Amino acid sequence: MSLAGSWRAELRKLLLVLAASAALGWATGLTVEMLCLGLSGVSVNWLWQLWRMRRWLEHPDEAPPESTGIWGLVYDTIYGLQRENRDARGRLQSTVDYLRSSFASMRDGVVILTQSGAIEWSNAAAERFLGLQYPRDRGQPVLNLLRWPAFHDYFLKGEFQQPLQVAHAANPRLILQFEITTFAGGDFLLFVRDVTRVVQTDQMRRDFVGNVSHELRTPLTVFKGYLDTLGASEALSVEPYTRAIGQMNGQVQRMENLLTDLLWLSRIESVREERKTEAVDMAGMLEELREELRLSNPERLLVLELDCRDTIVGDYRELRSAVSNLVINALKYSSDDEPVVASWRHEEDGLHLTVRDRGIGIDEQHLPRLTERFYRVDESRAAKTGGTGLGLAIVKHVAASHRADLRIESEPGRGSAFSLVFPLP
Ligand code: ADP
Repeated sequence: MSLAGSWRAELRKLLLVLAASAALGWATGLTVEMLCLGLSGVSVNWLWQLWRMRRWLEHPDEAPPESTGIWGLVYDTIYGLQRENRDARGRLQSTVDYLRSSFASMRDGVVILTQSGAIEWSNAAAERFLGLQYPRDRGQPVLNLLRWPAFHDYFLKGEFQQPLQVAHAANPRLILQFEITTFAGGDFLLFVRDVTRVVQTDQMRRDFVGNVSHELRTPLTVFKGYLDTLGASEALSVEPYTRAIGQMNGQVQRMENLLTDLLWLSRIESVREERKTEAVDMAGMLEELREELRLSNPERLLVLELDCRDTIVGDYRELRSAVSNLVINALKYSSDDEPVVASWRHEEDGLHLTVRDRGIGIDEQHLPRLTERFYRVDESRAAKTGGTGLGLAIVKHVAASHRADLRIESEPGRGSAFSLVFPLP
C-alpha cells in the first residue's frame, strides 16, 4: 500500500472507532465516557505497536512484526532501510578486507596512523622493518614505539614532500625509506621500504664517477705540462705543429672542464641538504657576477633587475655555480649584441631567480630532457660553444638540494628564461 493510502486507511480506522464510540455513547447516554474509551483503545493499540517496534529494533535479525495500515508501512520501510544498510556495510567490509589483504601482502611496510599519530593498523612488513605488531600496538603513539630521532623530526615537522632515508636503528647496514601521505582529512599513511640496494648502487655510481674524474686529472696535468713546453718551443712554432698543438690544447682544456664539472657534480650530490646553512645574498651574488663579466667579457651586457634583497639559506658555492651556469648559457646561446637579463624577485609562490636571454631558444620537445647529463639540443652547435653538457645537470641538482623548482620557458628564435624558484622562508 502507498503512503497516502495507508494514512487514509489509518484515518478511516480512527474515524470508525470514534463513530462507533459516539454511537455507543448515544445509545447508553455516556457519550464522553465512550469517546474516551474509544480513544484509549486507539492509544493502547499505538503504544502496543511502538512496543513491538522497539522490541524488533533491539533484535533486528528477526522478521518485522506483521501489521496493516500505517504501522505495516513503517515496519516495511524500516526493514527495507535495514536491508540496504546491511548490503552497503557488506560491500564496504569486503572493500576494506580487499584493501587490507592487498596492503598486508605488500613487501613494503604500511602503517595507518590517526591524526594524533596513534597506530590504527600495520602490516607484516611493518613488523619486519620496524617491529610494529598489529593488533598489539593498535592505539599506541607511533613516536613512542619508533624511537628514531630522524623519524621524530620528520614526523613532527610535517613536511612530507620528500621521503626520509635513514639507516635502521638496530641494523645500520639496512637503509629504510619513509614516505608519508595524508588521507581522509588528516590521517596518515606511512610507507616504509628497504632501499639499501638502490642507495648502494647510487653511491657506487657516484664514487665511480668521482674516482675516475680524480684519477684522470693527473695524466691530464702531465699532458698539459708537456703541451705548454711544446708550445713554447721555437722549433715547433711552424705549421703543421702549431695547429696540432693548438687543437690538443683545446681538447685538453675541454677535458679539464669536463672533469671539473663531473667532480663538482659528485660533490653536490654527496653534500646533504641539512648541511647547507649559510644565508646567501642572491642579489649580491648577481652583482658580483655582473662585475666579473664586465672585467672578463666587456662586450657582453648582463642587466640586473633586483626587486628585493631577500637572502636564502643554502650553500653559496653551489648556488653561485648554478646561477653562473645559467648566465653562461644565456650568453653562449644568444648573440653578442643582445643583453642578458637576470632578476631576483619576491613573488607569492616563492623567491624567483630568473635568467632571460633573447637568443636562439629551445624547441619544446627538448625541454623535458634538457637537464640530463650530456643532453644537447644540437651536437654540432655544442661542439662550437664548447660546453661540457653538464651545466644544466648541475643547476638541477643544486635546485633539488635547495628545494627549489627549476622552470624553463623557451621559444625557438625568441629566447629562453630559466628560473630557480626557492620556497619562501
Ligand atoms: P652545455 O654545456 O652544452 O651548454 P648544458 O647542460 O648547460 O650543456 O645545456 C644543455 C643544452 O641545453 C645545451 O647544449 C643547449 O642546447 C641547451 N641550452 C641551455 N641553455 C640554453 C639557452 N639559454 N638557450 C638555448 N639553449 C640552451
